Order: sequence, then C-alpha cells, then structure tokens
Amino acid sequence: MTTMTMHRATREPIIEVSDLRKTYDGRAVVDGVSFTVEEGEIFGFLGLNGAGKTTTVECVEGLRVPDSGRVRVAGLDPVADHEAVTGILGVQLQESALQSKLTVQEALELCSAFYPRPLDWKPLAERLGLTAKLTTRFGKLSGGQKQRLFIALALIGSPRIVVLDELTTGLDPRARRDTWELIEDVRNSGVTVILVTHFMEEAQRLCDRIALIDKGRITALDSPHGLVDRSPGSTVISFTPSAPLDNEDLAALPALRSVEHKEERITLSGTDETVNAVISLLVSKRITAHQLRVSDATLDDAFLDLTEV
Ligand code: ADP
Repeated sequence: MTTMTMHRATREPIIEVSDLRKTYDGRAVVDGVSFTVEEGEIFGFLGLNGAGKTTTVECVEGLRVPDSGRVRVAGLDPVADHEAVTGILGVQLQESALQSKLTVQEALELCSAFYPRPLDWKPLAERLGLTAKLTTRFGKLSGGQKQRLFIALALIGSPRIVVLDELTTGLDPRARRDTWELIEDVRNSGVTVILVTHFMEEAQRLCDRIALIDKGRITALDSPHGLVDRSPGSTVISFTPSAPLDNEDLAALPALRSVEHKEERITLSGTDETVNAVISLLVSKRITAHQLRVSDATLDDAFLDLTEV
C-alpha cells in the first residue's frame, strides 16, 4: 500500500437528509429519517436485514425517488441533479453488474470511461493491491480480491463520497480486516465514506458515527462509544466466587441489568455503581472473586437494547 496524505475532517455537512419517507405497497420502509454526514467522516448505517438501510442510501444516491423529504448531496438534489451527484458520489457495484470474463484491467478501464475526471487506474490498482491481478478474470478472483476491485471501481471517478454496502459480507476474517484497513485509508485520503453494514464489529471499528436503523426509523445516532454508553448495561463484570453468593443479594444490586450464571461463573451487567456494589458485597461476605473481569459492553449489547427484535 502506498502512503497517503492524512487529511483532517473539515466537519462540514456534505449530506443532509430531513424527514425522508419511502413507502412500498402501503408500508413505510423509510419512515421519517433525518441525518447529516460531515465531510471526511465514516458514517455507518447499522440495522437488521430489511430495516431500510439500502433504501435510505439509494435515495441519497438518487437511485430511488423519495415519497417526501429533502435530500441534498453537496447542496444538490440527487434526483433533479442526478448527473452532477453521480460525479460526486462513488457507488459500489453489485457482483452481478460485472461479467465474470472481464479482466481486472478491463473493468477498471471500462468504469473510467464513465467519468469526466477519472483517476489514473494504475496507481489505484497498485494502492488496492490489484497490480498482480490485472489480467485475471473477475470470476477467478477470491472474495477479498473482488471486494478490493469494487472499492477501486467505486473510487475511479474521483468521488468526494463513497458508498459501500455490505462490503465485507462473505469474507474470511483476514480479508475482512484487510478491507477495513483499505476503508480507513480511503477516508484518510479525504473521501467521505458511507458504510452500510449489519456487522457490529465492523461498525464499531470503522465508523465515526453510526445511525441505528430499525423498521425504517433511526433509533439512535451517535459515535460507537456514545451508543455503548447509552446502553443500560454498559459495564459488565464477571467472576468465579470462592463460595456461593445469595441470588437475592445479587438481585438487590443497584442499576443491575442482567445476571447470568454459567456453572460457577457469574456475569453481571449494569453500571459502575453495580460493579462497586458487587465488590462491597464480596468484601462483606469475605468471598474472593477469582478471574475477575470488568469490561465495557459492546456495540452488540447496545444494538440489542436499542432495537426491537
Ligand atoms: P436493508 O438494506 O436494511 O436490508 P432495505 O432498504 O433493502 O433494507 O429494505 C427495507 C424494506 O423495504 C424491506 O422489507 C424490503 O423488502 C422492502 N423493499 C425494498 N425495496 C423494495 C421494492 N423495490 N419494492 C418493494 N419492497 C421493497
């Protein structure tokens, strides 16, 4: 990977969406969604399948026409100014859009031709580790190589914003981590990234801010850390007590969210207050806590708390 210049995010909204609505067959699949994306951030949409993530993002891309609401991309209306928006916004192709016999180089050349000011595809291929694969047919690439090609194709028009939808689905952990590094590299080059995902770990690792989408609505919008903090069980403590603890004593702990027993091991979630109280309880009972672990809840926990499953 070649080195790239670090840019500081300018923190100006480049995407503005207010009260976006889209209905299919009388059912609101996007139901009053509002958010802004600042230039230079990685902004994630996280939600279960069918939550309305892709519909929202495709309204931003101008690929779907909203029933109502206002969408602006760099001040432009993606439907009325579709051509201008296409020049600003790089969209990830779906796998079905590329013929399997096309080579990597042919795909890069073909896509360059769509844009007025395409990037030089050779350094782009180099940056994405595709130089050795230029003559390989798309159908023969591994999952990780295909994803790298999709990132290259999304960037070839020199966009200010790039939209990546379920980019790492189906990748092995190594290829997923490599793809994450590439996405960070893209953002560090000054491109705003919109990431649609249902992987918590991916959202937590990459996103500056995450919009949790549930049934067509944004249920929370915050930094990954902020979302975890909102979760009522934001601190988790687990230990194996040297003698059994009374269930009633545990249930009486302040701000307790959940208690789980697995053989001798006890895991409690709550707040820092819960943790302090359980430690006092152990001291007062002269019970030792073996393998004591205190950790923050994960985005998984926050997601479950903030989404009606
Ligand atoms: P997500 O990206 O979160 O998985 P989508 O935005 O793809 O969700 O879909 C949201 C809901 O809208 C789903 O229930 C889906 O079946 C429905 N939907 C999406 N596109 C259409 C369409 N063109 N016609 C009818 N229903 C649609």
